Amino acid sequence: MESVTTASWKCLKKSEPEKKVLSGLPLNELIDELKSLPAPLPPFRAKQIFKWISRGITSFEEMTDLDKSLRENLDSRFSVRSSEVSARLEDPDGTVKLQISLLDESKIEAVLLSDAEDRKTACISTQAGCPVGCVFCKTGSLGFSRNLNSAEIVEQFLHLKALSTGTNISNIVIMGMGEPLLNLAELRRALAVLSDAEGLGISRRRVTVSTSGVISGIRDLTDNGPHIRLACSLTSARQDLRNRLMPIGETNPLPLLKKALTAYQQKSGQRITLEAVLLGGVNTTPADAAAMIDFARSLDAVINLIPWNPVEGMIFEGKPLREPSRAEAETFASLLEKGGLKVTRRYRKGRGVAGACGQLGVVP
Ligand code: SAH
Ligand code: SF4
Repeated sequence: MESVTTASWKCLKKSEPEKKVLSGLPLNELIDELKSLPAPLPPFRAKQIFKWISRGITSFEEMTDLDKSLRENLDSRFSVRSSEVSARLEDPDGTVKLQISLLDESKIEAVLLSDAEDRKTACISTQAGCPVGCVFCKTGSLGFSRNLNSAEIVEQFLHLKALSTGTNISNIVIMGMGEPLLNLAELRRALAVLSDAEGLGISRRRVTVSTSGVISGIRDLTDNGPHIRLACSLTSARQDLRNRLMPIGETNPLPLLKKALTAYQQKSGQRITLEAVLLGGVNTTPADAAAMIDFARSLDAVINLIPWNPVEGMIFEGKPLREPSRAEAETFASLLEKGGLKVTRRYRKGRGVAGACGQLGVVP
């Protein structure tokens, strides 16, 4: 059973979209922005404001250590936020999915996951829709609307944080809607906000970015950081099958992908996660396992197996996609383990609210 609540947030002023939004500005950009006002503000003011925004306030009025005239002046020029929660769905397993409305009326989704020890993880989107079009993914089936900006990425975290009474959110996974490395500039700014010790201070080691395998983006991260945890959705290590399942494979071939992942690993000193969505009867044969072992052997990688989460009406080459049986998934996992790979099976949280991997996609 699920409960649906329509949100009552009224922090937005949709009639004033021209106002600059502050929630997505890294501290250095906020300092510069406030320095360039007709009556410039010193950096310590920017820090105060940055802290307030990180704490989750939604209006200048609530910044009680600024005097009233300054608050009014800021309010006439800027908005704190640019999005609002339009619906909230709760799964009995503790997963909460938020539907979030943006200024242009686009809708995106963000998910809060809790584990048995009540550790909380925020799953965040980087695009409205996705241009990659993997055949097994609900988001991919929507097509692409647009990239999210830094404020829209940061605010998903702030909306989820507001739900999270008790324990703080300890981890972030950039595994919601969209391909993060096709929106790397805005993602980078958002991560700078989220990891700043003056604000939320989420350590980069607690952030995982999942990519479908955008080689140019992996190289950019290698050279310019941030060196977050990287997950790459492999799903098949057979080039031909991968191209048919994940069209991005055609322009991002496996040998070059492996080279880019190896370089990232060497530079960042981090173990890589390779994700594989298991599709019943499609990518679980011994030949599929052998190809995956061959791909992953020289990397320091963990293979995360994700049994396909059902999405209605998904057809692959004339046949409906289906979940793998437990035996099929286990046989595949043990073949990988026999080949020397480390394997984890991902828990299936959030299915009751269509908030599990690959199920995100707002019905307009
Ligand atoms: N675009 C990025 C991140 C978002 S998708 C990427 O593709 O990596 C997050 C994960 O969900 C990916 O590993 C993707 O392969 C997986 N996924 C997509 N659709 C799925 C589905 N229906 N069931 C299970 N996992 C799915
Ligand atoms: Fe986009 Fe990732 Fe879905 Fe592929 S799996 S369509 S890259 S969101």
